[in-house]
Amino acid sequence: MCSIIGYLGDGSAAPILVKGLKRMEYRGYDSVGVATISGNQITVRKGVGKVAEVNNAVKLDMLSGSVGIGHTRWATHGGVTETNAHPHPSGSGEVAIVHNGIIDNFAELKKDLQQKGYSFKSETDSEVIANLLQHNFDQTKDIKKSMIQTVAALKGNYAFVVVFEDGTLAAARFHEPLIIGVGKNGYFISSDVLGFVEHTDEVIYPDNREFVIINLNGIQFFDFDGNPVQHQITKVSKELADAYKGDYAHFTLKEISEQPDTILKAGDTTKMELDLTTEFVKHAKNLYLTGSGTSYNAK
Ligand code: GLU
Repeated sequence: MCSIIGYLGDGSAAPILVKGLKRMEYRGYDSVGVATISGNQITVRKGVGKVAEVNNAVKLDMLSGSVGIGHTRWATHGGVTETNAHPHPSGSGEVAIVHNGIIDNFAELKKDLQQKGYSFKSETDSEVIANLLQHNFDQTKDIKKSMIQTVAALKGNYAFVVVFEDGTLAAARFHEPLIIGVGKNGYFISSDVLGFVEHTDEVIYPDNREFVIINLNGIQFFDFDGNPVQHQITKVSKELADAYKGDYAHFTLKEISEQPDTILKAGDTTKMELDLTTEFVKHAKNLYLTGSGTSYNAK
C-alpha cells in the first residue's frame, strides 16, 4: 500500500511533499520520489529506500517550484529500482504521474502507445498512465478531456495524481483512496489526511469514479463522464488530527509507546492495576502471546 501526494499553493512544494510522505511511512513502501514544476519544466528525483535515505542522496526536498507530486512505491509490476520508482514522466516529459494501485490492461495500452511513438523507460504498469495522458493531451490540448479519455481507457484499481507542464495538478480515483486538503495557502492531494493534516484540517473526500483539476483559478470536481460535481468541505475531527501528531519514526512505535495512556483512558484499569500487571508480566516464568489482528481478516 503506497502513498501518493500532490501540492499546489504559495509554498515551496518539495519540502511539503517530502514531509507528507514521511508522515505516511507507516503504509509501507520500497522506494520514493518527487517531481515539481518550475519554469514550465518538470523535474523528477527518486530512488530506492526510505524517504530520509533517498532525500539525503538526491535532495528531493531541494527541488524548486510551488506545484508538485510525490510517491512512496510498493512495487507490484517491475523490480524495486530507481527507474521503476515513481513519479513517471511521459516520454516527452510534459506530464508526470504518481499512481497507487494496479492497471490491469497496461500491456495492451503500452503496446498501442509504443506503436504511436510514445517511449517508455520503466517496467511498471503505472507509466502507461503518463503516456496515455500525454497522448490524450496531444490530441485534445485540453486537460479535462484528456482526463476523461484516460480514465475511460484504464482498467484496474487506481488513484493517480498528475502534474501538467503548465502547472495544473489533476487526480483521479477508482477504488483507491484519495483525499483533498483545502488550505489557506494551497491545495493538497493525498492517500491519507496524514499527508497534510499539519497544514489544514479542511478536507474534501472525492467519491469513487471522480477526478479533480486544480490550478491557480481554483479546484473543480468531475465524474468520469465529465459532469461537474459539487462537494462540501468537511473538517477533520480534532481527535483524528491529534492522533496524527507526534514525531515517532513509525506508527507502530507511536502505538506501542501510547499503550499505557490508551489503556488508562479506556477507564476500566487504574494506574496501580496497570503497574502491578506490568510487574507480573515482567517476572513471569513463561509468557504465551496469542493474537489475531489483521491476519484474522485475511481470507
Ligand atoms: N503498480 C505500481 C507499481 O508497481 C504502483 C504500486 C503502488 O501502489 O505503489 O509501480
